[in-house]
Amino acid sequence: MTIELPVLPYPKDALEPYISEQTLGFHYDKHHRAYVDKLNKAIRGTENDGKDLETLILTSQGDVYRNAAQAWNHTFYWNSLKPGGGGEPTGDLAVLLKQEFGSVQKFRAQLAEIAKGEFGSGWAWLVMNAQGHLAVINSDNADNPLRMKLTPLVTIDVWEHAYYLDYQNKREAYVEAILDHLLNWDFIAANIATIIRSQVTSPMRQAAHR
Ligand code: FE
Repeated sequence: MTIELPVLPYPKDALEPYISEQTLGFHYDKHHRAYVDKLNKAIRGTENDGKDLETLILTSQGDVYRNAAQAWNHTFYWNSLKPGGGGEPTGDLAVLLKQEFGSVQKFRAQLAEIAKGEFGSGWAWLVMNAQGHLAVINSDNADNPLRMKLTPLVTIDVWEHAYYLDYQNKREAYVEAILDHLLNWDFIAANIATIIRSQVTSPMRQAAHR
């Protein structure tokens, strides 16, 4: 089984003017595709051939782990953004963020601080832990929160290749543009709904209710 490069959820110019078509083109066609291609080359004919990305992230090491994580992280990042996103969430998500962080503004400030402050290449994440609590964390290089037993809800890629053509060294401006205009609140809400559904339907949970 070959790991496929997923189709982008929107056209390459959809995030203009905040992320240019040129940046998205390089990022997807060169960087994301390269991680997928390198992964397929590394696993072909090995015991890892046929495993899905999440299994590879949880069980492999070295280049296989790094390329699997980068392949997964980038698909998650494309879905973390959308044209007309950013700003403030509404409804249950706004209530949850207030409960967990004190206010939506405090959540935003934490995510901005982590994204801007990541040393070198990495990722900023909103995650949910096994107890259902939310946290903002960073990960270095390719690292993926699934390895830390955390469920990702949204991410911002802060590798230079994500913003250098548009913002040069001004990572702060890139992060602010995402938070103001692109962050996909619907994706966060959908990821939380998936977690809740899986808990409701899990055999252990059902047994506990009997
Ligand atoms: Fe990237």
